[in-house]
Amino acid sequence: MAMIGIDLGTTNSLVSVYRNGRAELLPNELGQYMTPSCVSLLEDGSLAVGAVAKERLITHPEQTVSAFKTWMGTEKTFSLGDKEFLPHELSAMVLKKLAQRARAALGEEIEEAVISVPAYFNDNQRCATRLAAQLAGLPVKRLINEPSAAALCYSAALGRREGKLLVVDFGGGTLDVSVVDCFENMVEILAIAGDNHLGGNDIDRAIADYFCRETGLNWDALTPSAQRQLLALAERGKVGLSGIRRGLLVFQDGDQNLSAPLDGKILASICKPVFERVRGVIVRAVRDSGIPVSAMDDMVLVGGSSQMEVFVDYLEQLFSKRPTLAARPEHMVALGVGLCVGIKQRSAELRDVVMTDVCPFSLGVATYNSQGDVNPHMAVLIPRSSILPARRAQQFYTLFPDQRRIRLEIYQGENYYAADNLRLGELTVAVPPDEPGSQWVQVIFAYDINGILEVTAESSSGDRKQTVILNPKLTLSEEELQQELARLNALPTQSEIGEEDQLLFAWAQRLFAELTGPRRQEAGYLLQRMQEAAQSGDPIRQAREREDARRRLEELERWAQWDVFEEPDDEEDEEE
Ligand code: ADP
Ligand code: MG
Repeated sequence: MAMIGIDLGTTNSLVSVYRNGRAELLPNELGQYMTPSCVSLLEDGSLAVGAVAKERLITHPEQTVSAFKTWMGTEKTFSLGDKEFLPHELSAMVLKKLAQRARAALGEEIEEAVISVPAYFNDNQRCATRLAAQLAGLPVKRLINEPSAAALCYSAALGRREGKLLVVDFGGGTLDVSVVDCFENMVEILAIAGDNHLGGNDIDRAIADYFCRETGLNWDALTPSAQRQLLALAERGKVGLSGIRRGLLVFQDGDQNLSAPLDGKILASICKPVFERVRGVIVRAVRDSGIPVSAMDDMVLVGGSSQMEVFVDYLEQLFSKRPTLAARPEHMVALGVGLCVGIKQRSAELRDVVMTDVCPFSLGVATYNSQGDVNPHMAVLIPRSSILPARRAQQFYTLFPDQRRIRLEIYQGENYYAADNLRLGELTVAVPPDEPGSQWVQVIFAYDINGILEVTAESSSGDRKQTVILNPKLTLSEEELQQELARLNALPTQSEIGEEDQLLFAWAQRLFAELTGPRRQEAGYLLQRMQEAAQSGDPIRQAREREDARRRLEELERWAQWDVFEEPDDEEDEEE
């Protein structure tokens, strides 16, 4: 029986284990550590999760979904063909795939999984993540905050050097910032802040908007497939700028070629509004930690989007200090979760490592100032940045003569008025009729290390109620759970055998969609050849075709990329 760690990302998901004295990533069936968090419904009614699905984003936009984690814990539905799914159901599909892979790689059943979540995930989002794990058949007892995992990984990589760190995790859909104090074997999270709707996806969209403005293209008039294609172009342009300094974005709209320049300066100005929001989040984390920026020993950048040079430059200007970009920024969280697994397993090397975390939001009860008060405010029991686990108690008194009940509404958030925060649930306890203010209820909030709240209320008459705050929509009865499992299991996951072929197929189809002229024809020809080889049932022929197809697709991919990014010299040639 094995224990695994999972970084369930908006863009990419990874699995790790702790063995041989270190955290290790497990490669997927395609030999890659990162599995795209994309799901696609295939023609035969099975599900593709990962690289194949990612290729299908452009060719089969109606059957394919991505970035659903951004909507975790909400009721936003995503359609795969004619079926609708909630974000946690799609996440369950990703988790299932990862677990299946881990089982195969380890040759063991999974006894337990630790999953990382954005520090800024609220109670709903955490419960939805747990439910996703449950639907994937993964026992999960521990959720760990992503930036805390990254900090753990970074401090371990440094040989546990002492110091105060600012960790910025800038991924595809979320931003997480934490201030961490490392000393000896302690990794103490001092403060966290974040934004669950801020990441590389926003930058892609901003570049696409810029492209539309420059070329007069109307975003809203584009088909879903064309929109995805434009976003993919924007992303490629963005990633390309990590290396090349100047380029041209070229997009084929019908039979006309549209183009707009993109270089570091333009990108910086496009990204400015996004970066300003990042700044706001960093400022909040730093302020909450009470440690001045000048006293930070290091600023560590993790997450795919932190590889943007313009981002590193922006932060350097902001802090008058060059931040450190982690060596493999996209692996840090998963490796940190792997370390957390090691700690849970009580591995010898990690026996003395202690990590403390804090709560990202304030938790409280709606309270009324007077009988006439119609808009209750928050009485905060656990302020944000309290060290976990946290436990606080407070008494609340009756307001009305002969009041029979005290109703407690529980909220999470920073706003003064309770209604402006996230409502987590309510409890009602009975009190004996009496004068106003003479009967009371004692409320105890217990917030565990997973960021999940338990509330106990006991009234002056001894009436006692207890609840783990779980969104009723996200907690299923045994029967509901079985129904839900049956619904998800009715969609078989694409078999691992042949995944490589499926990827080649999906890849060729995407290139067919993206390229034109003879290159498009070649993609079509490759598709036909692969299909014929598959039908022949001759494994040797299939293997040969596979190798050939891969080589030629790589070449076509270079063309597809080249179309997007012209070499900087070209531009200089044009200037006379
Ligand atoms: P998540 O944690 O949300 O799954 P990742 O940390 O894997 O995300 O980062 C994915 C994001 O990083 C995507 O938006 C992607 O476009 C962006 N990204 C990946 N590589 C680069 C790069 N070299 N330059 C800029 N952005 C990148
Ligand atoms: Mg991430």
